[in-house]
Amino acid sequence: MTSLVGGSPPLHRPMKVTIGYTQSCNLDCRVCYADCTRDPSPRELPAATWVRLLDEFFEAGVISIMIEGGEPLHRPDILDVIAHAAPRAMTRLRTNATLIDDAMAARLKRIGLGDVMVDLLGATPATHDALTGVPGSFARSIDGIRAARRAGLPATVLVIMNRGNYRELQQVLDLAKVEGVEAVGVLRPYPLGRMRRNWDELSLSLPEMMEAIAALRPPEGVRLMQSWHPNDANCCWQMAAVNAYGRSIGCMYLRDYVDYGDVTVTPFLETWEHPLYRRLRAGNVEKSCSGCASTQHTHGGCRSTAYAFHGRWDAPDPFDSGLNDGVDLRVLPALPNAI
Ligand code: SF4
Ligand code: SF4
Repeated sequence: MTSLVGGSPPLHRPMKVTIGYTQSCNLDCRVCYADCTRDPSPRELPAATWVRLLDEFFEAGVISIMIEGGEPLHRPDILDVIAHAAPRAMTRLRTNATLIDDAMAARLKRIGLGDVMVDLLGATPATHDALTGVPGSFARSIDGIRAARRAGLPATVLVIMNRGNYRELQQVLDLAKVEGVEAVGVLRPYPLGRMRRNWDELSLSLPEMMEAIAALRPPEGVRLMQSWHPNDANCCWQMAAVNAYGRSIGCMYLRDYVDYGDVTVTPFLETWEHPLYRRLRAGNVEKSCSGCASTQHTHGGCRSTAYAFHGRWDAPDPFDSGLNDGVDLRVLPALPNAI
């Protein structure tokens, strides 16, 4: 048996919860982890159930709510959920921003939303629209960012790096500066949902990704966030997430691999005690990268990609250049068995 190293800070209750509100969207991104459909499934939880669950989260001590999807604004009843969450916790929205006009931005601001995190898949209509599958979506996302800014909502841009856009990342940073966006998160691609099916075409090797990151020069006033070495974090210790159907899954990046229980019938804190959830939160891993351990104070990198490429929960994260051990990230193994 391999002896494990590391360990994460103990946390007895979650402080933040991500809600995957819907698996529907008005776009058709080739990288979509949620594998969105146009219409929401009737199995998705109604807003009233979410309001009840939010109260359970707050009673458990949760102070931060991240709402994502799918596209949360594609289901208009999300506004009731934001209105309930925002006075009680820092509430953030990850969105493609295409459904944010001035009226929507003003409403989101009025009901207390903290900020928006807007996914762009490129810095030009040609790149972005090719990846979203919807002509005109780039212009609508930019309009949405501008409306958010006019309403006084801080905006962050997120970009999932892939073969279709990695040569445009500097332009995304420069665009952020022009649009008054203070931070850009360059995100690693995860082999989930449609991105998994398009992996052969859209994935990059680790050296290609590291080179692209190293070449970036954020303009003054724009903060670059990236999650490759030396920033590989094993943040399972502090994460909680519930998907659109009410399943507790720990993190949205574990959506294809785990199921800790149905929070509509099992108390949320009971799902927090699921043995696999406890094991991932404990943060003990086969190998640790000293660079990332010193900057992130956690070990082994992301558990989702470790599992996707090795089929073992304690394995090294191959996206970490200190732990990659010759894994070619363009070659995806067969889907590991979910629990
Ligand atoms: S905008 Fe987001 S939720 Fe919608 S299809 Fe694209 S990746 Fe999926
Ligand atoms: S699966 Fe990865 S991103 Fe999600 S909480 Fe764990 S380490 Fe963090």
